[in-house]
Amino acid sequence: RMVRLRDRLSRSGALGRGLLGLLTRESVDQDTWDEIEETLLLADLGPDPTDELLEGLRERMRVLGTNDPAAVREVLREELVKIIDPALDRRLAATRREAADGTSIPSVILMVGVNGTGKTTTVGKLARVLVAEKRGVVLGAADTFRAAAADQLATWGSRVGVETIRSDRDGADPAAVAFEAVKQGLEQDADVVIIDTAGRLQNKKGLMDELGKVRRVAEKNLHGSPVAEVLLVLDATTGQNGMQQARVFSEAVDVTGIVLTKLDGTAKGGIVVSVQRELGVPVKMVGLGEGMDDLAPFDPHGFVDALIG
Ligand code: GDP
Repeated sequence: RMVRLRDRLSRSGALGRGLLGLLTRESVDQDTWDEIEETLLLADLGPDPTDELLEGLRERMRVLGTNDPAAVREVLREELVKIIDPALDRRLAATRREAADGTSIPSVILMVGVNGTGKTTTVGKLARVLVAEKRGVVLGAADTFRAAAADQLATWGSRVGVETIRSDRDGADPAAVAFEAVKQGLEQDADVVIIDTAGRLQNKKGLMDELGKVRRVAEKNLHGSPVAEVLLVLDATTGQNGMQQARVFSEAVDVTGIVLTKLDGTAKGGIVVSVQRELGVPVKMVGLGEGMDDLAPFDPHGFVDALIG
């Protein structure tokens, strides 16, 4: 049910167009190498990965003894996949599991990230994917800071046909909502409980305290087991600013995966590599639009195919 990454990105050109054009030339000369480098840097691949990739690429071309653009393109494809790291485990924990004491519990997913990155939309899209896979889902609106956030989440919930647990008053304790959502998930034998948290960009201590408490209280119902995932939602269009946010969040809470949103609206798809390196956790999903089917599992091969055709 999820859209195919390749089909969507090839239309939007997340780093590709320039690269493709360069590799349809007759031969790859020094100017072309410089332009490839520039294209990768402009796509936010980051200086170190760009150097690494180009070194690997040029060395392999030397060994092959050719500067044929088609050959460069194939090797570039392989080197890009390598740098995105196909060995990382990008599967999402989203099934019932066995707790430390043997009790069957849902997978609890905490969604964290700054307001405006697409967190709530991502929760809605993810719920839709899971429902389509016939899984039981409960949503928790633990962003109690803004009433509009809970409304927005509840709207997604009714659209995809799942229950949304929320507080009936503004400024309620987000941890209490998380507690109730997990409790509801247990009672309904749900497969997954997805908890949307507040995304005020406060200081690290405040964020740590708030997310730490939501997490601890959610885990009170998990029979000695931890939450299954903490997904950090990042807006791909924000570049280095987004990386700064990513750092603050990953220091405040143990992130298990990244969701990169708005990849449809950027030519900076190289951020996938930068953010994985910086945080040491894989990009697991990407947002490719505002619609409810615009979420795709991230796969390095599909991504690279979309980039270089
Ligand atoms: P939150 O404040 O982090 O919960 O962000 P929202 O879920 O409210 O999303 C903020 C805006 O980004 C909304 O207008 C969404 O429709 C939009 N948005 C979310 N994900 C994507 C995406 O993958 N692509 C695009 N183009 N827009 C998105």
